Amino acid sequence: MSRYISKQTSILIPTLREAPAEAEARSHQLLLRAGFIRQLAAGIYSYLPLGWRVLRRIESIVREEMEDAGFQELLLPAMQPAELWERSGRYGDYGAELIRLQDRHEREFVLGPTHEEVITALAAAEVNTYRKLPLRLYQIQTKFRDERRPRFGLLRGREFLMKDAYSFDRSWEDLDRTYQAARDAYRRIFTRCGLKFSMVEAEAGSIGGEGETHEFMAPAEIGEDTIVSCPACGYAANLEKAAAAAAAGERSEEEAEHQAPAIQKVATPNTRTIEEVSAFLRIPASSILKTMIYMADGEPVAAIVRGDHEVNENKLTAALGCGALELAEPQDVLKITGTPHGYAGPVGLHIPVYLDRDAVLYGGAVAGAGEAHAHVRNVVPFRDFQPAQIGDYRSVQEGDRCPNCAEALQFAKGIEVGHIFKLGTKYSSVLDAGYTDEAGREQTMIMGCYGIGISRLLSAVAEQSLGDQGMCWPLGIAPHAVHLIPVSTQDPDQAAVVDQIATELARQGVECLIDDREERPGVKFKDADLIGLPLRIVVGKRAGEGIVEWTDRRGGVRTELTWQEAVRLAAGICSTAGETL
Ligand code: ATP
Ligand code: MG
Repeated sequence: MSRYISKQTSILIPTLREAPAEAEARSHQLLLRAGFIRQLAAGIYSYLPLGWRVLRRIESIVREEMEDAGFQELLLPAMQPAELWERSGRYGDYGAELIRLQDRHEREFVLGPTHEEVITALAAAEVNTYRKLPLRLYQIQTKFRDERRPRFGLLRGREFLMKDAYSFDRSWEDLDRTYQAARDAYRRIFTRCGLKFSMVEAEAGSIGGEGETHEFMAPAEIGEDTIVSCPACGYAANLEKAAAAAAAGERSEEEAEHQAPAIQKVATPNTRTIEEVSAFLRIPASSILKTMIYMADGEPVAAIVRGDHEVNENKLTAALGCGALELAEPQDVLKITGTPHGYAGPVGLHIPVYLDRDAVLYGGAVAGAGEAHAHVRNVVPFRDFQPAQIGDYRSVQEGDRCPNCAEALQFAKGIEVGHIFKLGTKYSSVLDAGYTDEAGREQTMIMGCYGIGISRLLSAVAEQSLGDQGMCWPLGIAPHAVHLIPVSTQDPDQAAVVDQIATELARQGVECLIDDREERPGVKFKDADLIGLPLRIVVGKRAGEGIVEWTDRRGGVRTELTWQEAVRLAAGICSTAGETL
């Protein structure tokens, strides 16, 4: 049978009437019900024929665009010696997400969650002159991460498909060009996959690096990330990274020294939280200092933000330059500060204090007194305590002012489908990826890395493409373009027309799925709405006259046409689908 024609009786599409109860995300429910995927263990899935067809289409779009951007495909091992990860320092840093195992000789290995180490070691061994640079490589491969909470089906798996690309350049300027090429390729990839997305400034996380980094976000309710954006100037950032304009109206240091009265202790029985203090003293949360005690690589530090703000641990980690940052346990707070949980404050505190710039309240603020059931009023920085550093350590809030144009910032939920990084020399310096330049001097390669979650992307598209009328896959990645549905498999006229349509579509290179099952029409249509092919041709009562029902499900248009006209429409739509860019 022609590879363009698939018959439902002979392809494994185990559709389900009900979604399993554990599937929370709409895309997860759909992919299970439509028979695209099955779970083997938490966060570990089989891709069934239809799911795999979508993945392969996504992959081929990714391959085309990465090759056009000058990246060459290779395939690196999933199983990697732990020693390599020790050299980069990530064997410890990556933590519990890293899957570790031993071979029969008790040598330690890991299953790659990402491949900076392997590719950098490869470049270090195989490339040593400027003549071989720039070098741009990519692979599409299964990754392993023992996620704390695998969920939402393919959105957060423990075994998942990723496209990861790596670049090696001679200078930061050359890296800028590579980064731009990757960024443009990403835009084309997501557009061709039919995804709505935006590119946002991001935090580097455990991949690290010295330069800028951007994420590609697909807006969706289920998204675990928060996209902060400015409707006026286009500023967009992940909440982990987003900045707001500093609060206005601060007073100068000298002015504060003269004007604020001396600090004064007040009894505040049973007021551990900001809300309780605010209610008890009848003051707004914004005039209270929230003192949070953290352990940064095992050393205690205090972070202070305004009572109505939250500490942003990513910003604090970046400011501290530490690996692991954790909120101190109440018993540790007591040990470190001598203060019971809820009453810590900056006055008399003997650990470094990181003061958020919006919490520099020279007019005097209320803070924990450093003893149970008491607070202090009129606390002024520099006069009453010495901050180690003042900076932006808080998360922005909806309505805060844009850092560029002062418009009110907006929040939306998003799914991170891609992430690109300017790594600089983070890996090349420790793994000795150097080269000799034109003048014969030894140099270190400047690296970038670029990831797309292929299997997550499939789910993100499903999340966005699921409407009231069921699923509708974007044409560029649909498992098949046309669903060809005979209402009755017993009717010879219908069978003949279906045959002619399928043959003609195949001749024109259009893939179709024929529902040749002996099922009631209701069952067929229900399954078709789940499977979600974008074009549908129903062959029914009027088959004898050569008339069929045509639906372009992307716009919901349904009409009766001759079968030849339907084929012409389908072929026309499919031939222009690849030319949208
Ligand atoms: P997240 O913040 O969602 O955990 P990450 O920052 O750990 O993602 P990267 O290390 O940048 O992700 O990985 C590159 C891409 O791989 C991500 O942009 C995402 O699309 C995908 N990805 C990451 N973790 C998973 C996962 N557990 N399941 C599926 N895809 C994933
Ligand atoms: Mg992660």
